[in-house]
Amino acid sequence: MQKCKNCKQEFSFRQIYKSFWLGYRSIECDNCRTTYEHSFRNRWLGGLSVGLGLLFGGLVQSSLEISFAYKMLISVLVTIFIMTLFSRLFVSYMTFEKE
Ligand SMILES: [Zn+2]
Repeated sequence: MQKCKNCKQEFSFRQIYKSFWLGYRSIECDNCRTTYEHSFRNRWLGGLSVGLGLLFGGLVQSSLEISFAYKMLISVLVTIFIMTLFSRLFVSYMTFEKE
């Protein structure tokens, strides 16, 4: 995980993950209150998580031979699951720039 450039305090997983799901909200160092904004790379990783989620959701939808309502339900659940999975994985690769 990235460290604060000011005081070397490491950003927490929870801090980064939460700010990501709040629409790339800026994060603040717990120690020295310096604020950081998401780099372009994080937006790309976020887009990739959503894209992969939709892709897998779509694959499930087209491969199942069940009623429409179940298909929708299962594909939505798969989309959410994959999006959550990849965004969690990507958190440790996210980088921030001082505001
Ligand atoms: Zn700091």
